[in-house]
Amino acid sequence: MSAQPPQSTDHSSSLDFASLDLPAPVLENLARLGYATMTPIQAASLPLALSGRDILAQAKTGSGKTAAFGLALLARIDVRAQDAAGPLLQGLVLCPTRELAEQVSQELRRLARAEDNVKILTLCGGTPMRPQLASLEHGAHVVVGTPGRILDVLGRGALRCATLRTLVLDEADRMLDMGFHDDIVAIADQCPPERQTLLFSATYPEGIARLGRRFLRQPVEVKLAEQH
Ligand code: ADP
Ligand code: MG
Repeated sequence: MSAQPPQSTDHSSSLDFASLDLPAPVLENLARLGYATMTPIQAASLPLALSGRDILAQAKTGSGKTAAFGLALLARIDVRAQDAAGPLLQGLVLCPTRELAEQVSQELRRLARAEDNVKILTLCGGTPMRPQLASLEHGAHVVVGTPGRILDVLGRGALRCATLRTLVLDEADRMLDMGFHDDIVAIADQCPPERQTLLFSATYPEGIARLGRRFLRQPVEVKLAEQH
């Protein structure tokens, strides 16, 4: 935990990943990935996300939003937390489409070092349910998926959010456009109230503001839409 006051933005002026409260092996992995400096959205949101704050972030496509929430989500995972079935679910990322969910899973796997053994599952509609249920039997630290399918597996009791520490709404504006509002609400209602919530969106329509007021606790608002 940072000793700084919650609203401090001292660190956000630095673009150096080393200014973040991240373990040395994570920093080495970022260097290996060719991530030399933070993008503006990462510099503005990561220090606060890593300190546990809820974030409401608006930034255009290609600005590096996945690592902005991914590094915070991964930092809060205890890989050893498990029950008889396997790892306990600690991170959940909701995405609008299967393609985006697969991209996010891929990026999270790059950010999570292989030796840390973080188990990441992708659960999306439009793919057969049975193999997804089978993969869930052995548990996962992180699930990335589309709201409809996630709600479905929650309803079947195949996934439980009781141990969730971080909920991410990625491309939240597109999820609302696609009619996922009620599914998102139903999923968030099953997550522990003390979880951290990170909401990322390319645009900031009233629906996003409403969602933010409903789910985020004293969020830090990060808006970089004007920068090109
Ligand atoms: P967004 O979700 O905002 O559209 P992504 O998270 O998909 O953006 O990132 C876009 C691309 O930039 C990806 O290929 C990602 O690997 C790369 N990237 C993200 N952060 C950095 C960084 N700090 N340095 C270099 N490349 C980065
Ligand atoms: Mg993205």
